[in-house]
Amino acid sequence: MRAVMVREPKHVELVELPDEDPKFGEVVLRVESCSVCGSDLEGLHGWHPKMTFPRVMGHEVASVVEAVGEGVASVRVGDRVAGTGRKACGSCPPCRQGRPTECQHPGQPGFTAHGAYAERMTVVAERLTPIPKGMSFDEAAVAQPVGIANHAVADRAVIEEGDTVLVQGCGPIGLSAMLLARLRGAHVISTDIVDYRCRRARELGADVALNSHKEDVMGPVLDLTDGRGVDKVIECVGADQDETLPQAVEAVKAGGLVTVVGSFKDNRAIIPVIDFKFSEKAIIGSQGMGDGYLPVFDLMSSGQLEVEPLITHRMTLEEAPRALQLMDDKAEEVMKVVLNPQKT
Ligand SMILES: [Zn+2]
Ligand SMILES: [Zn+2]
Repeated sequence: MRAVMVREPKHVELVELPDEDPKFGEVVLRVESCSVCGSDLEGLHGWHPKMTFPRVMGHEVASVVEAVGEGVASVRVGDRVAGTGRKACGSCPPCRQGRPTECQHPGQPGFTAHGAYAERMTVVAERLTPIPKGMSFDEAAVAQPVGIANHAVADRAVIEEGDTVLVQGCGPIGLSAMLLARLRGAHVISTDIVDYRCRRARELGADVALNSHKEDVMGPVLDLTDGRGVDKVIECVGADQDETLPQAVEAVKAGGLVTVVGSFKDNRAIIPVIDFKFSEKAIIGSQGMGDGYLPVFDLMSSGQLEVEPLITHRMTLEEAPRALQLMDDKAEEVMKVVLNPQKT
């Protein structure tokens, strides 16, 4: 099968890999859609703390179950599913005894095991969510980063009607956080440092969208909140957290909450600790999807949330290097690129 492999940081190429038969507890997934994530870029550059090489990346995936191994009852051949499952290590005692479902060191497809920049992936049949009828594979793939935003908005920041929220970052996760916060009845100020991304936030419904390198952010924040500061900040930038977190702490009201979603290039950031302490502000983290795909699938299926506007490019596996370059350069007003591995 064809796959796109990062041999070592910065070296990505199309390769031919052997197809695998599913062992006990495993499934073969025929990958229909895999969206390209900002963390794939970090992996490509060798900045991702978890990613190992050589690696087939890709974790935002929608596929069809092509084959099932013995002992698999949760899915059937032909099922449309979202999610990566897990990859059995193949070498721990349960794996060697033919019980990969009990693997002691399971790999995370796309990071520590091969992922979905490939025609197929063979994984333990776990954490696979049925894709609702009528939802496209591309939408189901993009539901993964939307789910990350939803966990932050719904479970961690607990955005409520009437909240004023600063969402830092207008990439796919930042835009999703903005849309989800708006759905809950919040007022949203979005920021980014790329003009077209600010424009996109405005088009999709942000009350205000500001280029924080060109425009004053604190002025509008104080204007919109009668001088108090926003109730909550959701940080969805990742890079430059030495810039975003001080701004988040400054912009949030006394007693307010900053939720960090962005993944970091540097494992440190400086905050104005005196203001933070005197005003009893809080910073918390948000990791992953929480309750998985279902909350977001419900919002999408019921028509409350459209993810199609986040998808700007669709490409084949052969075009994956160009997709990554586009994302790196933020060229062609790219937002989300979806790879369709079955197409050539
Ligand atoms: Zn991702
Ligand atoms: Zn194992």
